[in-house]
Amino acid sequence: MGRVLWSLRVLGAGRRPADNPHSLLQHDLLLKHWSRLGQLSAAGWDSVYPADLSALDGLERSMQGLRGAREDVALGPCFKCVLSMRAFAVDAMPTCLGIVEFKRTGQSWSPVDAGRSQDIEKTAQGEAELQVALNAASLAESAERCTACGWPPGVLIGGDADSVRAALTKGYSCSPAFRERMRPLFSRGNVWIHATRIPGKINVADGPSRHRAPTQAEIEGSCECLNAAYAALLREAMERGRSVFSRGSRREGKDEGRAEGRHTEA
Ligand SMILES: [Zn+2]
Repeated sequence: MGRVLWSLRVLGAGRRPADNPHSLLQHDLLLKHWSRLGQLSAAGWDSVYPADLSALDGLERSMQGLRGAREDVALGPCFKCVLSMRAFAVDAMPTCLGIVEFKRTGQSWSPVDAGRSQDIEKTAQGEAELQVALNAASLAESAERCTACGWPPGVLIGGDADSVRAALTKGYSCSPAFRERMRPLFSRGNVWIHATRIPGKINVADGPSRHRAPTQAEIEGSCECLNAAYAALLREAMERGRSVFSRGSRREGKDEGRAEGRHTEA
């Protein structure tokens, strides 16, 4: 039972949510099953039905068949992944979505153009904000996987909706409507998303979502937010690369020592 609980924790912990067929987003049934078991077992595990326990046993076996190790679970994108990311600012009104694509020069991002508007049927504000972010992320799906680490193409998405950013980051939402919208993109696993905050007052995508041109303040403010998020991603990827390298060389050191019959310390 302990191993099953550990594995379940791993399903959600640190995995890239948009490239994870085992993420909780894909397991509504499993979550319902667990919540029922939780209720049944309130009086102790003895009160859980044998059929439930054998279902868990099957689940454990299927999870043991998953490929990958703990390091795969928590490892993030490599430096090359971050260098090949695309970036967008997004915003939504209940009847219109706005997307502004950015291009990178060195470490600075700037808008490609004034962005595009897409009129939609009236939608709840939060869902429209989620949909426009998903639409932007899907624009990055067609690129090749990273040749260095195998991750799918990355996309940096700036917007002002906190609930959307949280859902994209976790790869899950407590809102069934959000999960429904996220599932197609996330189950394809063709993209990884880094969502960052661009406050509404300086969001360049507020222009197209309101059928107007972006202001200079919006352009500059959005660039600043994306640049800061991008710099942090580069830094993290670099540090991760260093720690992987040192882990690798420690391992090599040990093997050499064993082969040559002497003790080496990396
Ligand atoms: Zn990579």
